[in-house]
Amino acid sequence: MSTRKFQIKCPHCTLHIQLVNLYEWLNSPYPAGSKWNMSYCPNCRGPVIIRQSGTKTIQYYPLSLPEKSDKRIPEKIRRDFDEAKQCFSIEAYRASATMTRRALQNTCIDKGATKGAKLLKQINELALKGIITSDIKEWATVTRWIGNDAAHPDSPEVDVEEAESIIALTEQLLSVIFIAPAIAEERKKIRNAKTKTP
Ligand SMILES: [Zn+2]
Repeated sequence: MSTRKFQIKCPHCTLHIQLVNLYEWLNSPYPAGSKWNMSYCPNCRGPVIIRQSGTKTIQYYPLSLPEKSDKRIPEKIRRDFDEAKQCFSIEAYRASATMTRRALQNTCIDKGATKGAKLLKQINELALKGIITSDIKEWATVTRWIGNDAAHPDSPEVDVEEAESIIALTEQLLSVIFIAPAIAEERKKIRNAKTKTP
């Protein structure tokens, strides 16, 4: 067995990890002179195939999953949004937009909007209570439009740009609503603890 080692981001579990080598095909004709390697991830046991042409180009299969969202976002919302990004990575744009909309709706509920109400009303509630600014309300509205198109059979198709735009908007929205306040809170705690030290 070859001693060649591949340190990659596992396309299954996204951990940066040293793969366990199972089989290697040197000097393959596909394309000429390329090397193929079959490995598995010691963390999740997922199989990985690597094709190396020359010394620099490494391609691996399956394609990588997108990065997981920040742990400071509540789990329920994070799961929806991660699924939206996974759908996008396999070109399932309607499913992606639907899950992005769902992440937005769960964010509204998490921030105190009426459960079971329409998303339009929930967004307005948060704006009226001053929980979101008028800018964020705009971002949420665009996400709602495109998410609605994705969910309803009579509405226009959702294309790659639309699905990508609402992922970007929701990324920003989640950052402003959950991540930035959590970072500020962490820093405040550390600073307070330091200043209290005699
Ligand atoms: Zn893995």
